[in-house]
Amino acid sequence: GIKTVSFIGLGQMGRPMAKNLHEAGFRVVGFDASEEARLEAGKSGLIVSNSLEDAIRDSDCIVTMLPNGDIVQDVLVSNDRFLSAHKGALLLEMSSSAPLQTRQLSELVGTHLRVVDAPVSGGVKRAIEGTLTVMAGGSNEDIESSKPVLEVISSKVFSCGPVGAGHAMKSINNYVSGAGVVAASEAVRLGTEFGLEAETIVDVLNASSGKNNATEVKMKQFILNEAFSSGFALGLMSKDIGIAADLAKSLNLNLKNLEETDLMWKRASKEVGGSADHTRMFEFVTTNSDS
Ligand code: NAD
Repeated sequence: GIKTVSFIGLGQMGRPMAKNLHEAGFRVVGFDASEEARLEAGKSGLIVSNSLEDAIRDSDCIVTMLPNGDIVQDVLVSNDRFLSAHKGALLLEMSSSAPLQTRQLSELVGTHLRVVDAPVSGGVKRAIEGTLTVMAGGSNEDIESSKPVLEVISSKVFSCGPVGAGHAMKSINNYVSGAGVVAASEAVRLGTEFGLEAETIVDVLNASSGKNNATEVKMKQFILNEAFSSGFALGLMSKDIGIAADLAKSLNLNLKNLEETDLMWKRASKEVGGSADHTRMFEFVTTNSDS
């Protein structure tokens, strides 16, 4: 069984996930490139290392919760760093990465590590609660052996198919989620322009067929109160929708709404800034909707 977990990437999501694993009894050794992130994570009681090699040495399980697949590849593959882990250790790639890149990664490290992609949905709040949704890709056997770790982090683990399937599923989810944020923002702009109250619009949508996660959660918790504090960056949402758009292209699919949604998030990311909260898409929609 898994005893030692190396947790790489102690940001908005990684920090609470690593803390929950530590509290569940795993020996968690964390690493992050940012000193601030390391200090913050250290306050939770887990061991934090200043060196990646030390963090993964003799590990049974490496969890990566980094911004994207390029960084995951860079961190693990350069200088063959992944070789410091035990042969046969599990790599749980929980970042929202690109599925085809994850397959490549799996080929690069596959002689030494068993790879499962296991991205999550639910945001910072559910990361803290340990109730994320996990979408896993890998062999049934590898997904089974990763469950002791995944079940601490998640209340729902879906097996989606072979390596890469979890990352494909995650990009599809975030396409629908990001399109929902745009649709809900345009709906509020349209309705208020006509003279409806924003609160009324959201309440009616939530009791009707137009409801989605943006109307049910984001509008009142982060947008209409102008808190913009979901903890999920605009640049990360844009990256995820870009992954879905690239996947569609690689499969020779023409999906117009996906293309338009991708362009819109890319523009917003450039103009509002990638590190702004993604719920600021509402401001982008509002300020760009006058003809
Ligand atoms: P974040 O930016 O808060 O955290 C990423 C961490 O990675 C940072 O602490 C950063 O210092 C560290 N990092 C960057 N480059 C590094 C390197 N080369 N070596 C070591 N550490 C490095 O991002 P997050 O919100 O925690 O998201 C992480 C992943 O999870 C992303 O792929 C994101 O798309 C996905 N995700 C985020 C949310 C959310 O609500 N925030 C929800 C689901 C999935």
